[in-house]
Amino acid sequence: MSKFEFAPMPDNQGFFGEYGGQIIPPELKSAMDAINQAYEEIRQTQGFQDELMQLFQDYVGRPSPIYHAKRLSDKLGGAQIYLKREDLNHTGAHKINHCLGEALLAKYMNKKKVIAETGAGQHGVALATACALVGIPCEIHMGQVDIEKEHPNVTKMKILGCKLVPVTQGTATLKDAVDSAFVEYLKNPKDYLYAIGSVVGPHPFPKMVRDFQSIIGREAREQFQQKFNKLPDIITACVGGGSNAIGLFTAFLDDSEVKIVGVEPAGKGLDTTEHSATLTLGTPGAIHGFKCYLLQDEAGEPLPVHSIASGLDYPGVGPQHCYLKDIERAEYDSVTDEECLDAFMTLSRVEGIIPALESAHAVAWAMREAAKLPKELQILVNLSGRGDKDADYVADKLGL
Ligand SMILES: *Cc1c(COP(=O)(O)O)cnc(C)c1O
Repeated sequence: MSKFEFAPMPDNQGFFGEYGGQIIPPELKSAMDAINQAYEEIRQTQGFQDELMQLFQDYVGRPSPIYHAKRLSDKLGGAQIYLKREDLNHTGAHKINHCLGEALLAKYMNKKKVIAETGAGQHGVALATACALVGIPCEIHMGQVDIEKEHPNVTKMKILGCKLVPVTQGTATLKDAVDSAFVEYLKNPKDYLYAIGSVVGPHPFPKMVRDFQSIIGREAREQFQQKFNKLPDIITACVGGGSNAIGLFTAFLDDSEVKIVGVEPAGKGLDTTEHSATLTLGTPGAIHGFKCYLLQDEAGEPLPVHSIASGLDYPGVGPQHCYLKDIERAEYDSVTDEECLDAFMTLSRVEGIIPALESAHAVAWAMREAAKLPKELQILVNLSGRGDKDADYVADKLGL
């Protein structure tokens, strides 16, 4: 198994080029700086590194395999598609990688409680799992509307022993849950840790979450070298906040021969207002304490966004992705809800793998491109999660 390592960016103010940083009130700045300082100390200790790597192996089930989707590739008649199977992780997605890191950090910092918000409940379940394992109290804020929609995840969080706080203010969805969780966090930032669910938010979260997720790319790079004695020609992943994508990309950033592509949700089309293609159509702005590309109105307020995959509908995006786009080290493309659904069904029926709707965006992009490329080329897709959570929804939608 590969060692736990860290990428050099961002600078010590948390900037990736002009993106990232800390756009937050002073009382929060000192809390974030304390987390950064503790993280920088703790991450270098053998105890922390050994504990995290052992959990990745024995608890999450890492390394996750790389699978050649041969029947899918044959059907498309072009480049070969490989899947990095994060869907096989304990709890069914990549999110457990950074939730374990955050829960362990909370333990090493002697925090008394971990707080977070959740939308569809994926981050909530992964965090409640990690906190149960580490033995630290966990409090998840969730909009009442989402609580009613996401029953299985709500039940899981309860079973896992976290405190679920229903939020009824405003539209009672994700944004209100963020506000509510923040209010709780600000009551005692010294004793609480706010566990952000992607590579977003103020410094040091984009860096920390990236470091915890970068195990994906380090494994994949080594696995590919071992299997083929070369690197993949193209690597791709879906981008919501951007954690599973940066987790794959980080190990390949210096390999200029590897093309890197992030896939955003085009929703009902880029020419409509119902999409969430932040890097494709956004402009620089600020949200949730950091600077990034943003889908915003004239006043700089985030616009409403849409994706068939609830894990991808965020109007901002991780600052490192913004930087990688500007320096042209990564490209960002998009696929529609319809292409996503088609990939979801095709992968299920041709390979017997039901992907998360989020991950199906990356599969859809790979399918579209593979058909145009020679058979010798290899595309590695990060299959960020499994589709159990989406199965009923898709079956209803397609009338199965
Ligand atoms: C949450 C989620 C995503 C989106 O988050 P990123 O931070 O962009 O990775 C993607 N895939 C799955 C399976 C998820 O649960």
